[in-house]
Amino acid sequence: MFAGSVTSGSLRAPQEADHIGQPSVVGFIRMRGPARAEPASAGTYHGPVADKRVLLAKPRGYCAGVDRAVQTVERALELYGAPVYVRKQIVHNRHVVSTLEKRGAIFVEENDEVPEGSIVIFSAHGVAPEVHEQARQRGLKAIDATCPLVTKVHQEAKRYASEDYDILLIGHEGHEEVIGTTGEAPSHITLVDGPDAVDTIQVRDPSKVVWLSQTTLSVDETMQTVARLKEKFPLLQSPPSDDICYATQNRQQAVKQIAPECDVVIVVGSQNSSNSQRLREVALEAGARAAYLVDFAEEIDPQWLVDAQTVGLTSGASVPEDLVQQVLVWLAERGFTQVEEVTTAQERLVFSLPAELRKDLKAAGKR
Ligand code: SF4
Repeated sequence: MFAGSVTSGSLRAPQEADHIGQPSVVGFIRMRGPARAEPASAGTYHGPVADKRVLLAKPRGYCAGVDRAVQTVERALELYGAPVYVRKQIVHNRHVVSTLEKRGAIFVEENDEVPEGSIVIFSAHGVAPEVHEQARQRGLKAIDATCPLVTKVHQEAKRYASEDYDILLIGHEGHEEVIGTTGEAPSHITLVDGPDAVDTIQVRDPSKVVWLSQTTLSVDETMQTVARLKEKFPLLQSPPSDDICYATQNRQQAVKQIAPECDVVIVVGSQNSSNSQRLREVALEAGARAAYLVDFAEEIDPQWLVDAQTVGLTSGASVPEDLVQQVLVWLAERGFTQVEEVTTAQERLVFSLPAELRKDLKAAGKR
């Protein structure tokens, strides 16, 4: 779907994600859009400009974990009625949060803001076990929308802690996912916030140490951190499989592919979205002359595009496709009418809704 076919108000993922299975890497494919992006109105066209183009990265936008979390809130509202409480932003995107608020979701910071006996949904970023316990004590009905790929990291942390390893968790201090994972084994986990933090890290036994990571980090920076850790702790073990999730890796790979050809890369995503911030950084590292993060098309400063011939466009894993389409319309109005989609991987992964919600939907005769 290219500019000119914008739908409004949808929080759903693009419909190609309809099979269960791992994403397959396809090298990269370049496709001109089926229709050139046209200005929304001739009156706002900013003059004749030839050969201005947009390289549209794919994969971009919603991942399987975000789609599941957003659907969890939507289906809970439909099943139980408003209000439904959500602890923290369900995903880190302003548009998604405000749309769900309008439908009856109430976002809170902690369980003690939720009236006793109410429904509370935990966000995609995951929570510490004590948050589940607080909800139980308060008599809340908790629905856990933690992404299964975050849960996988929690399980790894619990397993290594039970074997008395020191766990070096690479991640950003204060991020909800890091807080949740650390809560699984606080006495065994030490945060490593980037390569420069390595020098101060101490462990009890250098022969029994493992690294894990937040799911939404820069792949390259994480590998630098791991290399520094291995210099310091040669017997450092690695996680059994990648902790940086498929969606983060695929979006970074796609933006790396387009960035060297771009004068400017625009990343659609919110400031508090870790994976969106990383896309902006990766674009710059891969050769884009400039890169900006915006929530909405209206936040783009036309000055950024002065002298630009090629604009790259992508979006974070918590961003609905509508917002990208609106940026394409905005760009078309300024002469960037050639849209070329550059595909580096196909994604087919879908997660089922949380078990507690599926059970209630089934009991209510809904699927
Ligand atoms: S970015 Fe990755 S870990 Fe986070 S919700 Fe999406 S799939 Fe899950």
